[in-house]
Amino acid sequence: MLLGILKETAPGETRVALLPESLKSLGSQGIAITVEAGAGLSAGASDAAYTEAGATVTADRASILASADVLPLVNAPDSTDQAQLKPGAVVIGFLKPLDAPQALAAAIARPVTLFSMELVPRISRAQSMDALSSMATVAGYKAVIDAAGLLPRLFPMLMTAAGTIPPARVFVIGAGVAGLQAIATARRLGAVVEAYDVRAAAGEQVRSLGAKFLDVDLGGIATEGGGGYAAELSEEALDRGRDLIARTAAHSDVIVTTAQVPGRPAPRLIRRDAVAAMRPGSVVVDLAAPAGGNCELTQPGVTQHLGGVTLLAPMNLAAAVPVHASQLYARNILNFLGLIVKKGELTVDLSDEVLAGACVAHQGSPVNPRVAKLLQPAATAS
Ligand code: NAD
Repeated sequence: MLLGILKETAPGETRVALLPESLKSLGSQGIAITVEAGAGLSAGASDAAYTEAGATVTADRASILASADVLPLVNAPDSTDQAQLKPGAVVIGFLKPLDAPQALAAAIARPVTLFSMELVPRISRAQSMDALSSMATVAGYKAVIDAAGLLPRLFPMLMTAAGTIPPARVFVIGAGVAGLQAIATARRLGAVVEAYDVRAAAGEQVRSLGAKFLDVDLGGIATEGGGGYAAELSEEALDRGRDLIARTAAHSDVIVTTAQVPGRPAPRLIRRDAVAAMRPGSVVVDLAAPAGGNCELTQPGVTQHLGGVTLLAPMNLAAAVPVHASQLYARNILNFLGLIVKKGELTVDLSDEVLAGACVAHQGSPVNPRVAKLLQPAATAS
């Protein structure tokens, strides 16, 4: 069995799917590993380190595509790469099967087996494979660090001979994985932190990190969808949140906003008047930018300066911390590989609920029902 590690080609991508330190357990199962030259460079892993870990390094990308039985990736391969894959191979990565299923058509037709890290069910058994949480953790941390770097103020309260500096005030919207990490990071830097989430269950976690949880009376409506995620709210319920956000924004130095509803565009929660009410020098980091953004002024991928307020809308903040983002991702990938590689042999058993949930396509047909629905001819035509 041959496992291939490619250099990621997406613009701005710095992560790599497996690091040299990940290869030991694979090599000991007799798996041959080929790495594209330069694959790990931006994540701090040299070609020599992969060679020392027992891999073969080659500049011949086409040969890896054509011969690898398993290809762990960060991002989906483009259609040119897909057309070169070995039929029957297994490709694993952030494949965006719900956002852009048609972009996987060439690989499905090849046919190869596609597993999407976004679709790994969030059940206890699969926690060690939860790459979404890994990347959200990195992004939540980095959002606060970037905001602190841009803010023309200090984060901690300082009592000096020259007087007292009050602590920065940070407002976190959406207290899921990224939001909780943003709260913890801001608290560690000494900020006073407030947070809002529609899920009441988030309140306890927010308070346990030393932040204040802001409650909104949404009239007792259901705010939780399935699997611990938020439900999509009515405009009326969203408006109550928007009002609270506008009031809180006026006294916040930094907003880190992370609110998302799976499979839907991100809710627009921060109105332009809320941004306008912030003090000059304030910073907003919209981590929901890849899903359209939580602020109505957000332009995904663009940093804007709006009346003295800096609005960041990063599309791939985890890639700004490539070493640890790759390290966490590689561990998630290794744990996932443990489900499909037994004693060095590839065995795809789709009766396993983790594999069935994560499987986009197998033997030429879509497997995940949500992906299958999106790939139906009628859905394609619309
Ligand atoms: P996410 O990225 O989908 O959303 C981020 C946050 O935004 C969520 O907390 C959500 O409630 C909130 N949100 C959505 N709409 C909102 C609105 N209109 N106003 C305010 N906030 C809004 O979520 P996530 O970070 O991936 O995780 C969500 C939940 O899943 C959490 O309860 C988390 O603990 C749970 N989780 C479980 C597992 C597991 O069991 N393996 C793993 C990861 C996360």
